[in-house]
Amino acid sequence: MKSTLTSPTSGERDGEISAVPFFDQSETFRRIWPEIRSNCIRVLDDGKFSHGTAVADLERALERYTGARHAVGVNSGTDALVLLLRAAGLRPGEEVIVPAYTFAASATAVVHAGGVPVFADIEEHGYGIDPDSVAAAVTDRTRMVMPVHLFDRLADLRGVHRVARTHGLTVVEDSAEAVGMRAGGAHAGLSGAGGVLSFFPAKTLGAVGDAGALLTDDDAVAETARMLRHHGRSGRTLAAFPGISNPTVVTGGNSKMDDLQAAVLLAKLDRLDTDIERRAVLSRRYDDRLRGLPGVRSVPGDLPVRPGENRVVYVHLIEVDDRDGLAARLADAGIGTEVYYPRPLHLQPCFAHLGYRAGDLPRAEAACRSALALPLYADLSESAVDRVCDEIARHLTGGSR
Ligand SMILES: *Cc1c(COP(=O)(O)O)cnc(C)c1O
Repeated sequence: MKSTLTSPTSGERDGEISAVPFFDQSETFRRIWPEIRSNCIRVLDDGKFSHGTAVADLERALERYTGARHAVGVNSGTDALVLLLRAAGLRPGEEVIVPAYTFAASATAVVHAGGVPVFADIEEHGYGIDPDSVAAAVTDRTRMVMPVHLFDRLADLRGVHRVARTHGLTVVEDSAEAVGMRAGGAHAGLSGAGGVLSFFPAKTLGAVGDAGALLTDDDAVAETARMLRHHGRSGRTLAAFPGISNPTVVTGGNSKMDDLQAAVLLAKLDRLDTDIERRAVLSRRYDDRLRGLPGVRSVPGDLPVRPGENRVVYVHLIEVDDRDGLAARLADAGIGTEVYYPRPLHLQPCFAHLGYRAGDLPRAEAACRSALALPLYADLSESAVDRVCDEIARHLTGGSR
């Protein structure tokens, strides 16, 4: 976020299109500054920066928005995943199947919860975990499977649940990117034991620092997560969790959400659906402008939406063969892009001990080579989208600037 609160819509300066940053929400802040300010001042006057009312208010608002029985506010999407895995009953050494193509937290959370990540490939068409690859990865130590909803749509939950039922696995969702995404009216994160939300600043609903939430319809999962986020405390005692015998699993920590973050999020939540609609408009414009260009695939417009699902474009992804060349060209032109994700998790050094080799999960590896995220946020202008597309077209058709 830029420091000024009065700058015009991103990518537009005096009618001239200048730089297009990958992410910028200064206009959003300018617009809702009064609400954010009064919410924050209430917290400051109240003096309750932790265990205050803002976090509880946000939790109730998230329950209304998502339809979850419980929303548990925590300090990040990553910790929400750790708490979810532990509260859903993961025991030390048990395996959790996660996609190899996702943000690191999906797999590192498994490690922090005492488990072992096992990697599956993604679908042939799409970026969700492939149910067949999940079935092939099941062992007698497998306890859970974690579909991750990336970019603009849900993973194949129906397919994942079919495999989970066959093998008696618990489904936990990494829905960190999926605020607003629903299937058959049910919000992301609620198809199994629970899911998470991330409020990292660049996410669709972003705080002014780190924050996250756990979503669940399961009373026991919610109660355990609430204790785990606060040292395992239940009143003045440190709880022993029913059915979990290993102390490394029951010991709580500090994963609480700051009330100031909750105050900001409460103000931004009111605008969330408007922002989601704006993202859709801009994403369709990218689709329309990029369609038919040689050597590029505009992912949101290209992949069919599964019946009953709505789409929320958190990231507008394109696939290009010469991804790094295009990213460099756009950077030269002052256009920010991001590579989600540069290296598949099974080939990351921190998981080398698991023994995976290049070629083991080819679709995940290919996605890491060709995917590029374009600027997309509510404050972006149509003319900025056009400028990005013009630059892409010039690059792909061999034109010079
Ligand atoms: C952002 C993200 C997370 C982690 O959330 P933080 O709030 O940054 O800890 C986890 N998984 C996915 C898929 C994400 O995009």
